[in-house]
Amino acid sequence: MTDYAFPPPEVTSLAIAGSELAFPVHRVYCVGRNYAAHTREMGKDPDRDPPFFFSKPADAVVPGGTVPYPPATADLHHEIELVVALGEGGRSIPEDRALDHVYGYGVGIDLTRRDLQGEAKKHGRPWDTGKGFDASAPCTPIHPVTAVGHPERGRIWLEVGGQLRQEGDLAEMIWTVPEMIALLSGLFLLKPGDLIFTGTPAGVAALQRGDRVTGGVEGLDQIEIVIA
Ligand code: MN
Repeated sequence: MTDYAFPPPEVTSLAIAGSELAFPVHRVYCVGRNYAAHTREMGKDPDRDPPFFFSKPADAVVPGGTVPYPPATADLHHEIELVVALGEGGRSIPEDRALDHVYGYGVGIDLTRRDLQGEAKKHGRPWDTGKGFDASAPCTPIHPVTAVGHPERGRIWLEVGGQLRQEGDLAEMIWTVPEMIALLSGLFLLKPGDLIFTGTPAGVAALQRGDRVTGGVEGLDQIEIVIA
């Protein structure tokens, strides 16, 4: 047993639907611009250029419920996303074996300090302050593949105060889940517990303190957060 200088951080975990077990989170990978309409609203041309990835710290993952309005921003945006939860890791995973590595799926919100992300883009700086802040990755419980299969289509949506803000379909994703796993595994040694936020459909916009945000993926789950 190692004697630590102070207690090591707790393992961040998500509930697993229909199970007493918890899903321990290892890393959080995110995909940028994976729906054509959202790519256009961010001022870029959707194309088949290789996707780009960024990360959030594992402990940015929180369950739904009350989420604090983060500091240092005046433009907190919502991005509703399908979340892939890996149960097996590996490197150089071929596309046709990629789905074997998936434990299950959830619905998450990639909260973004858009003003800080915009500054970072302008100056060619990293996105960490815009994307990787505390509680920036609310996510539902993980639904095992044994229960929900591998969702390839279905409505993905988000409402703020009952008003529809984002809407799309999983079938519109530019890069599929197997393609994303194959590409990520060429860049990183993937591990069980890794989450992949797979990108957001069009309609991203700002949140205010007190907003009640609901969103979901048809046939999978719904998430609800309240911005405190
Ligand atoms: Mn996103």
